[in-house]
Amino acid sequence: MRYYTGVMGATGAVALLLGAAIGPAQADVQAQAGVQAKPKFQMPFACGTNWQLNTYGGRHNPALDIVVKGNTGSDGKKLKASAKGTVAKAFSDRGAGNVVIIKHSGGWYTAYYHLKDKAGVYVKAGTKVKPSTTIGRIGKTGANSGGWAHLHYEQRYRASGIPTESHRKAVDFNGKRYTGVNRQWSSVKSANCP
Ligand SMILES: [Zn+2]
Repeated sequence: MRYYTGVMGATGAVALLLGAAIGPAQADVQAQAGVQAKPKFQMPFACGTNWQLNTYGGRHNPALDIVVKGNTGSDGKKLKASAKGTVAKAFSDRGAGNVVIIKHSGGWYTAYYHLKDKAGVYVKAGTKVKPSTTIGRIGKTGANSGGWAHLHYEQRYRASGIPTESHRKAVDFNGKRYTGVNRQWSSVKSANCP
């Protein structure tokens, strides 16, 4: 939903301290390498289905909140993986609700918040996923969901270790970037196709 969820927590603070040991030039090289290696992420929904994407401002960026086209009711809609990978974490957070974080190639990860089901119903840490794998269902779990069913979605990059919210990057689907402040794309078709 609209606000920073605080999932980062103490682990993120430690990571920031460790990050200070890396010089700016080295960090740039790592960032460039990551951008070059970004997988061609797809929308985390069945091939050919249509969705509404929203960005907000402040600390919500560059995450997206996603509902079905027309916002006619997203509760229980199935989620797919944005690319092949392995589930790095699946857990429940007070603010973000049921969360799945998937590790892809090249230091890239995707994060899915407010899921309807707890870890283990669809996937758990260590589960290998393909774009066709159902990783969960849209829900409204967590205080930050605001009580409305939607998917909070992030793409993250970190050279080493599981990235936190501080490692979020602009979202790309099928090679197109969806980012900015208070933007809306009212109908985007999923190209997450076999
Ligand atoms: Zn959100």
